[in-house]
Amino acid sequence: MTAAVLVVGSANADLVVATDRRPAGGETVLGGDTQILPGGKGANTAVAAARLGADVALIGAVGDDAHGRLLLDSLRDSGVATDRVRVVDRPTGAAYITVTPDGENSILVSPGANHALTPSDAADPAGARVLVASLEVPLDVVEHAIACAAGAGVRTVLNLSPTAKLSRETLQNLDVLVVNEHEAAWLLEAGDHDGAHGGDYGSGDHGSDAGRLLDLGPRAVVITRGPEGALVATRDEQAGIDQVEVPSPQVTAVDTTGAGDAFTGALVTWLASGATVADAARRAVDVAAVSVTKRGAQPSYPLLDELS
Ligand code: ADP
Repeated sequence: MTAAVLVVGSANADLVVATDRRPAGGETVLGGDTQILPGGKGANTAVAAARLGADVALIGAVGDDAHGRLLLDSLRDSGVATDRVRVVDRPTGAAYITVTPDGENSILVSPGANHALTPSDAADPAGARVLVASLEVPLDVVEHAIACAAGAGVRTVLNLSPTAKLSRETLQNLDVLVVNEHEAAWLLEAGDHDGAHGGDYGSGDHGSDAGRLLDLGPRAVVITRGPEGALVATRDEQAGIDQVEVPSPQVTAVDTTGAGDAFTGALVTWLASGATVADAARRAVDVAAVSVTKRGAQPSYPLLDELS
């Protein structure tokens, strides 16, 4: 079974409760009804790509429980192949999300089954055109998946979310590194610290942030910038660093949950069909802009024919 886009990442049940205020330590507060929604960065990215018509499979793990069945159903309903989602003897991953009236979220993630994934689960890129990973699954799984894909000539994309310290080899195996502005700042600081202490990352030149991220190894860097859209940087052998600003359409955002995953899912969909990174990012900002105008993560992702 081959898929053009292979996603390595998490599947979580998002358990969302609205509350007037968050309980302090030792306190009990009554909130609203619990909403249970399919989520997790891996599943979100896979669903975003599948809704855009990509041929997608997820490498992941869920538990043998109601949340696991909810997640498998939602992946299959969206057209994501689930034959490489293992059902394991741990509870399905869950994100406990409280939302206050000011719209702020606080999130506690229990990785559960996601942490039962092993490097061997992700060793075979099986003819994919693009492999994309994110980091709610163990780092060794992601690094092995990227090494195997790069070795097989499959394009590699990493959404460095949440942040984790990557080996120099992994950074150099990446075709595209996708980070938001916080993750970019974290990675630059980690790089600088290590450079100063002779660690894994080089400290790079004193050029732009994107240029300094390129110095760490990836062939292209995409920095997402919320309502501003994205910045794409690639290194051109002759001209040096090529930077393209990709502005977002102006929309009224009602819920930005999962916007980064929508962006990444769209990016890999167009990369798999042969677009340049800049062209894929132009489509990705359109997709992510639609996603922020609707509530939820996966339910907010557009179908291809809903894009203008
Ligand atoms: P993350 O969701 O990972 O923190 P960002 O906030 O940068 O990352 O959002 C990812 C992408 O989602 C952006 O590049 C942009 O295309 C889109 N996006 C996020 N917020 C908005 C917004 N308010 N209006 C339009 N697009 C948005």
